[in-house]
Amino acid sequence: MQVSTDTIQSNFSLKDFNTFGLDCTAGAFLRLDNPAELSLLPELISRYENYLILGGGSNLLLPDYFDGLVVQIALDKLQTRESDSDVLVNAGGGLNWHELVAFCVKENYGGIENLALIPGSTGAAPIQNIGAYGVELKDVFVCLNAFDLQTGEYRCFNREEMEFGYRDSVLKGRYKGRFIIADVWLKLTTRDHRINTSYGALAGDLEKKGVENPGISDVFKAVVEVRKSKLPDPGQIGNAGSFFKNPVVDAGTLESIQKKHSDVVFFELQSSGMMYKIPAGWLIERCGFKGKLKGPVGCYEKQALVLVNRGGAKSSDLVTFAGEVQRSVAAEFGIFLEPEVNIVQPENYGDVISL
Ligand SMILES: Cc1cc2nc3c(=O)[nH]c(=O)nc-3n(C[C@H](O)[C@H](O)[C@H](O)COP(=O)(O)OP(=O)(O)OC[C@H]3O[C@@H](n4cnc5c(N)ncnc54)[C@H](O)[C@@H]3O)c2cc1C
Repeated sequence: MQVSTDTIQSNFSLKDFNTFGLDCTAGAFLRLDNPAELSLLPELISRYENYLILGGGSNLLLPDYFDGLVVQIALDKLQTRESDSDVLVNAGGGLNWHELVAFCVKENYGGIENLALIPGSTGAAPIQNIGAYGVELKDVFVCLNAFDLQTGEYRCFNREEMEFGYRDSVLKGRYKGRFIIADVWLKLTTRDHRINTSYGALAGDLEKKGVENPGISDVFKAVVEVRKSKLPDPGQIGNAGSFFKNPVVDAGTLESIQKKHSDVVFFELQSSGMMYKIPAGWLIERCGFKGKLKGPVGCYEKQALVLVNRGGAKSSDLVTFAGEVQRSVAAEFGIFLEPEVNIVQPENYGDVISL
C-alpha cells in the first residue's frame, strides 16, 4: 500500500484549520483517514524537513509558512462496550471532541459533560489533559493506542504511563511529536453519575434555571451556555482559548505578592501541600491588558487570558504581544507565564519559543 501522491496537496492553506485564523501555508498537507496508512508515515515524513500532526488546530500558533508535511488526523471510529454500571467508549483520534461529548450525553454516558464545547479532536484531548469546570480528561481515561513514528509500531499508554498533569502529559513533554494518537478509551458511567457542579458559574446557571437535582444533560447544557457567554467563538474571533497556563507558586511567593496585592486570587492545590494556583487571567488583567489591542491582536475583553486575532494578524504579532504580557507579569509579580498553546516555529516544529 502507498500513500498516493495525489492525496498530498502542495502549498496548502491552513487558514481554516487553525482557530486563530492565521494565514499559514503548509508546504505539503495530507489528511489521514485510514489507519492502515499510519505505517507509511515514517518513510513519508523522512522526505520532508519537518512534520506536524494536526487535529482541529485549536491549540496551535502556526507560522506564516510551514516548510514540511502537515498530517491531519481524521480517524473517526467509534465503538462502545456497555456493562452493568459503566461503558467503555473507544473513539478515533480524529473525532470532534464536542460531538463525542454530545453523543455520550445523549446515550446517558456520564463523566465528560463538564468538558463540553472544548474545540478540537479526541486524539489531542489526552495530550494536554484537557480540563474545564472541575473535570479533567484523566478522570475518565483508560488508555490510548498510539503509532510510534520512530519505531513504526503501535504502543498502548495507560493512565500511569501518560504522566498526566495540569494541561500536561508525557505526550506534550518528552514524547512531543513522536506518537500519533489513533484512538482513545474512556470509561464512563451509565448510572449513578457523579455530577460535578463545584464551579460557581455552573451552579449559578443551574440555580437561575431552578434545576435542583441536575442530571448530566443539565450540566452539559449549563456548560455550553456558560462557555458561550464567556469565551469568544473562534468562528467569529480568532483565538486558541487560554494562551498561558495558570502559574503554581509556593507560599513564600504568594506572601510576597500579597504584600503589594492583598486581593490576589489564589487556590490551594489539594494534591501538593502549600502550593497555590493563581489565575493567569487575573495577573494579566491586573497588568492592564484586559481588552487591550495592539494592531490586530490583543486580550479578549471578557477574559484577559485569551489572546485574540481580530483579523489579519500574523503569528509574529501574537508572539510579540504574548511576550509583552509575559514581561509585564514577570515585572509586576515575579512570575513567568508558560504558554499553554503550542507555538510552532517554522524551522523547528513544536518547540515553544522562549518569549
Ligand atoms: C475557544 C477555545 C476554548 C478552549 N477551552 C479549553 C478548555 O476549556 N480546556 C482545555 O484543556 N483546552 C481548551 N482549549 C484548547 C484546545 O481546544 C484543546 O487543547 C484541544 O484538545 C486541542 O485539540 P486539537 O485537535 O485542536 O489539537 P491541535 O491544536 O490540532 O494540536 C494540539 C497538539 O496536539 C498534537 N496532536 C493533535 N492531534 C494529535 C494526534 N491525533 N496524535 C498526536 N498528536 C496530535 C499537535 O501536534 C499539537 O502539538 C480551548 C481552545 C479554544 C479555541
